[in-house]
Amino acid sequence: MPDDAVVIVGASHAGFQVAASLRQAGFEGPVRLIGDEPVLPYQRPPLSKDYLLGKIGLDLLVMRPEAFYRDHRIDFLPGTRVTEIDRAGRAVRLASGERVEYGHLVLATGARNRVPPLPGVEFEGVCYLRDLAETEALRARLAAAEQVVVIGAGFIGLEFAAVATAQGKPVHCVELVDRVMARVVAVPTSHFFAAAHRRAGVEFSFGAQAVRIAGHNGRVDHVELAGGERLKADLVLVSVGVVPNAELAAAAGLAVANGIVVDEQLLTADPAISAIGDCASFPCRHADGAPMRLEAVQNAADHARCVADRIVGKPHPYTALPWFWSEQGPLRLQIAGLTTGHDQTVVRGNLEAGEFSVFCYKQGALLGIESVNRPADHAHARRLLAAGRQVTPEQAGDDSFDLRAAASVRPG
Ligand SMILES: Cc1cc2nc3c(=O)[nH]c(=O)nc-3n(C[C@H](O)[C@H](O)[C@H](O)COP(=O)(O)OP(=O)(O)OC[C@H]3O[C@@H](n4cnc5c(N)ncnc54)[C@H](O)[C@@H]3O)c2cc1C
Repeated sequence: MPDDAVVIVGASHAGFQVAASLRQAGFEGPVRLIGDEPVLPYQRPPLSKDYLLGKIGLDLLVMRPEAFYRDHRIDFLPGTRVTEIDRAGRAVRLASGERVEYGHLVLATGARNRVPPLPGVEFEGVCYLRDLAETEALRARLAAAEQVVVIGAGFIGLEFAAVATAQGKPVHCVELVDRVMARVVAVPTSHFFAAAHRRAGVEFSFGAQAVRIAGHNGRVDHVELAGGERLKADLVLVSVGVVPNAELAAAAGLAVANGIVVDEQLLTADPAISAIGDCASFPCRHADGAPMRLEAVQNAADHARCVADRIVGKPHPYTALPWFWSEQGPLRLQIAGLTTGHDQTVVRGNLEAGEFSVFCYKQGALLGIESVNRPADHAHARRLLAAGRQVTPEQAGDDSFDLRAAASVRPG
């Protein structure tokens, strides 16, 4: 294969976007997109939302139809696993034994479900929600389920709980800490969502540790908590986070620390290898350069664009503002910026009515904004934070303060 060949491992949000952006930027060399799933690249967010609900089919889930890859000369290899990187020979090895040479290699291997070390995780009825195959299996099982237990009250667990309650299923959600989405949202947002889920019929056990999944005839029967409580279940969704797929990189001698370590241009220590998306730990401009691994479509797609720019000779550091969204029943949560470590929150809008934004500050500096059913706030927040502008806590809390104008003001 010619020296300028770009080989991409992982054909999801990040991998697909590198291939598409390379062609959009006029890259003429060979592009090979290698993915171990047996389907065209598809969007993951709808898996726990409209696809699980049956509102959309595979046609709307896939990123592009097959013709796109042909038309853009993207050599897409589905159902193909890369098993080894030969850095000296600039080639990857496939599970079939075939060698594929690269000029530049992009690792977009993403993340996989974290499987907790719980006795009983192997029972039939214990499910996960990360890829299409798992979602198909979960959808079928949910239709027949009578009692659902969700372990982990993060985004995925709660999105699934919303779908399950919408289908009239009783849902019990077990969470180790004392509130929902604690890793990513502020207390007012957590409390609002917990209350909304309760109204929809979800029961919560907070500060509760699942210690065992018990079964009968190979099928799940109940989940046992540390205090001895037993939660009856014929479907258990385990949603306790993910593990980055970094083993390929580590085996090739590349640095790995909660993800594949890259610099501000998303390059590993090997100038011929980049890593992007959920598998990459990068110095984040919006966290004072601290190493960060984000799990978001925005991050995967913007990383990909940054790497494509570099490959076509327009290198620049990765500086995009992180943003994220989640849909839980009728509630749309949108987050701009990184709010970890905040010491002050200010609520703007109407919390009771479910239309509000939470501004998160650290030592008086605005870190990020969480918006619930306030899309305009979110749009302004992204512009504001991307430009490094501030609004004071007093301005944030004053609903008559013009956020749009604050986000639009040009310096000087
Ligand atoms: C159910 C669900 C809902 C979500 N909802 C949202 C949302 O609402 N908003 C949001 O911003 N984000 C959401 N996310 C997160 C978002 O989908 C991820 O951040 C995004 O998919 C990351 O893309 P990626 O390409 O980096 O990795 P991944 O999507 O994990 O893809 C990596 C791909 O690489 C493949 N692969 C790994 N190793 C190899 C190998 N050795 N050889 C070949 N292929 C390999 C994997 O099988 C996989 O197909 C959601 C995720 C899930 C699972």
